[in-house]
Amino acid sequence: MNTTQLTDVLRPVKHVFLDFDGPVCSVFAGLPAPDVARGLYDSLSPALAPGDPEGWATETDPLALLRSVADVRPDLAVRADETLVRLEVEAVALAEQTPGGGPAIRACVESGRSVWIVSNNSGDAIRAYLADHGLDDAIAGVFGRVPGDPTSMKPNPHLLLHALSAASAAPGECIFVGDAARDVQAGTAADVATIGYANKPGKAAVLAAAGAVAVTDSMGAIADALR
Ligand SMILES: [Mg+2]
Repeated sequence: MNTTQLTDVLRPVKHVFLDFDGPVCSVFAGLPAPDVARGLYDSLSPALAPGDPEGWATETDPLALLRSVADVRPDLAVRADETLVRLEVEAVALAEQTPGGGPAIRACVESGRSVWIVSNNSGDAIRAYLADHGLDDAIAGVFGRVPGDPTSMKPNPHLLLHALSAASAAPGECIFVGDAARDVQAGTAADVATIGYANKPGKAAVLAAAGAVAVTDSMGAIADALR
């Protein structure tokens, strides 16, 4: 996607909702996701019962593990989420900034658009990252998963709907930027158009097929289109 097309998509937009892991940073670049999932599993293991899924021990996606634990063992949901928040706060201290991510946020603000983070990650971890990188004053609000309730996570539109309400915005004045099909699905369910950020090979086709109105492999291109 070239900058002209992105410019057309972004022209009417007053509020930009950004997914966090991908468009802003790579959360698990320094503390790998499989290690975080393992840490979460280890913290829960004393409370696990013989009938609990064996696959939890080898799950490499900490958010998928949280979702499954809350599903199968709702009694452990709050404890699992609290542990994962702690691990995510550790992870974001070692996270890698997405090239163009900070500039895209700045370009939104400089062009009079408000920026909101809408993410399956923990709000505490997101806020810690933003403060560490001097971005907290550029963000109008952070909507991380509801603590203890992983059903709030995308593709559920719950978090986007809360952001829309906080922004007092009509869906047509907003755009969502995300790097996963579940982001596009959440956007569609909330009636908000989604720009796909294709940060890995093969993602562009997946994001387009999910219904993204535009796909780019560069957050810097979004920053350029906003200027
Ligand atoms: Mg993401």
